[in-house]
Amino acid sequence: MTGILRLEDPVTSVRGIGEAKALQLERLGIRTVEDLIYFFPRRYEDRRQVVPLKALVPGGPPQAFRARVVSVEHRIAMRNRKMNILRVCLSDGASVVWALWFNRWNLKNLFQTGMELALYGSLEPRRPVPELLNPEFEILDGDDPKSVGRIVPVYPMTAGLNEKWLRRVISSVIDEAAPALPEILPEPIVKKYGFLAPAAAVREMHQPGDEETFRAARRRLVYEEFFLLQTGLALRHRSSCLEKKAPPLTGAPDLVRRFRERLAFELTEDQQRVCEEISADMRTSTPMNRLLQGDVGSGKTVVAVLALLQALDSGVQAALMAPTAVLATQHAVNLRKWLEPLGVEVALLTGGLTPSEKKRVHESLARGTIRLAVGTHALIQDAVRFQRLGLIVIDEQHRFGVLQRKALNSKAGDEQPHTLVMTATPIPRTLALSVYGDLAVSTIRQLPAHRQPIRSVWIGDNRLPKMLRFLDSEIESGRQIYWICPLIEESENFDAAPLEFRYQKLCQEFPRRRVAMLHGRMNDKEKTAVMTDFAAGKIDLLASTTVIEVGVDVPNASVIVVENADRFGLSQLHQLRGRVGRGPYRSWCILYADPKNPEAEHRLDQFCSLSDGFAVAEADMRLRGPGEFCGVRQHGLTDFRVADLIRDGSVMETARRDAFAVVEGGEPQRDHPLLMKAVMARYGQMLDIVRTA
Ligand code: ADP
Ligand code: MG
Repeated sequence: MTGILRLEDPVTSVRGIGEAKALQLERLGIRTVEDLIYFFPRRYEDRRQVVPLKALVPGGPPQAFRARVVSVEHRIAMRNRKMNILRVCLSDGASVVWALWFNRWNLKNLFQTGMELALYGSLEPRRPVPELLNPEFEILDGDDPKSVGRIVPVYPMTAGLNEKWLRRVISSVIDEAAPALPEILPEPIVKKYGFLAPAAAVREMHQPGDEETFRAARRRLVYEEFFLLQTGLALRHRSSCLEKKAPPLTGAPDLVRRFRERLAFELTEDQQRVCEEISADMRTSTPMNRLLQGDVGSGKTVVAVLALLQALDSGVQAALMAPTAVLATQHAVNLRKWLEPLGVEVALLTGGLTPSEKKRVHESLARGTIRLAVGTHALIQDAVRFQRLGLIVIDEQHRFGVLQRKALNSKAGDEQPHTLVMTATPIPRTLALSVYGDLAVSTIRQLPAHRQPIRSVWIGDNRLPKMLRFLDSEIESGRQIYWICPLIEESENFDAAPLEFRYQKLCQEFPRRRVAMLHGRMNDKEKTAVMTDFAAGKIDLLASTTVIEVGVDVPNASVIVVENADRFGLSQLHQLRGRVGRGPYRSWCILYADPKNPEAEHRLDQFCSLSDGFAVAEADMRLRGPGEFCGVRQHGLTDFRVADLIRDGSVMETARRDAFAVVEGGEPQRDHPLLMKAVMARYGQMLDIVRTA
């Protein structure tokens, strides 16, 4: 039969799948024969043991057995005329049981006396006589049973599809089409790890024989998925190295030196190390692609500034992009404070500029009279041209898509700028390797010295009065406070009610204090004005939505209250917590919440016990899954068929080493055409490597 069904054929070419079934399969993401082959079970039922009827115990677990039909009764329930019942008496020669099927008209004429069945089910205890209710069955007709005597797959289902039907369809498709699955892994790799052939591996996933073979099959498929992704990343890495050159930033470090001399503090060892890593990258003509991870408050901004200055020292322009106007403005303010004394002009480009301001900035950047730009994604809009852009620093990378990074890259014409992306949501290593796998990674683990640890506590409504007294005493000693309310995201129109309500309350509670409010619906000018006042110490207590979540730096703030903290993810809470503890003062993060479920309580407890951002990130990824965690769900980079980023992390490392060796060590297109085809099919669009290979 081999050769009749091709892998790329639509499912409708499979016997027994018509238009209706095809539509239902489509809902499971299954369009082709290949999709069917790779539609793996959600779990398995071990039905290897086939028991005699007398081994069935009322209320016991489901069991597999064989029996013959002794008699068939069909009746319509008296009380409810819509209910029809099929009652079948079964025997294995030694004992007898009754099996009942409700409302299965189609079975009415199916069972014949003397017919042999394989069944799987359990005895319902609470009936007058113990009976099997709707057991799964298979008519044997002299054939060997397929549904008992083995481990049976259980597939994820959608309405209208029947487990038994899908099992049969997939089983026959595997028989016909799986042998045609090509070996896409390079031969030395298959040899080295002793991998099963693809056909054997997928068959084993659907119809496991024994545990050892099953594990071998899974191992191959996990490796294959990671290897494909890593090959894609290696190709992208290679193309970005080969395709365009970056300007080598080797100018004499004049601004860099003057900036460091004026800096009020010493760089930590970690900061120095990552500065050197970055600087070395930028001195070459291979475009830098580096991710800088560091916990909130670890001092990434200074590192960024030093990189920007190296670019200016070498005669090219540099840009710093931030995810929000508040943050971009804060960066601009800081950079101006630091750099204007050195004679460096800083342009700020956000959506909030007037058309004429915008025009002026655009012109200066295009002519090269301004060499340092800070902004939001306004920076990557089409109208923006640079005279010669040599470096882009992207702050809080997790807020931007991979795609935006690409858009900014295209700003530099034939050249490619060096790119540094920074994130304070540390990414667990395996995830970093899959999502940012073509980036080099620098990590700051150490916080600047003299930092006070932040104490995190979780309190409920009953302790609100006590907390308010505590807040007042903090304000009394000169500190400032953030109070965060969650957005009500379900509502179409922004609903400021919870924040508005809290703001009014706080004004009443603290009549003598300066209380202000900040939310996303205010325009950029209003937002910036509030943040500037807060930074200048003119506001004691700021009630805000999460617009202040990332990057805001006010060292005098010592308490952050997060209301309804159970509505936030762990990483987001950690970001919020990072708004305090940025100066010499003892600081507090107070989670104010009365969650209704134990999981949420557990999460809040867990958060209070974790202070390290990397640990928080791990925990968050475990809770939410990798895709949600890093916001790349829509890119599909973390959607695997078998592999699990958390469970199979170490395989990712191996696959990565192997894939980079294959891509860098030869001519992949010539040596591994099947592999290249598979990588393109799976990741070509996503990674934008179609063009280059
Ligand atoms: P993040 O990594 O979260 O972006 P920032 O760059 O905003 O952190 O730095 C947090 C605060 O720590 C800032 O006020 C910054 O000036 C200060 N800082 C940075 N590096 C040091 C250092 N080596 N010693 C003391 N303070 C530092
Ligand atoms: Mg920052």
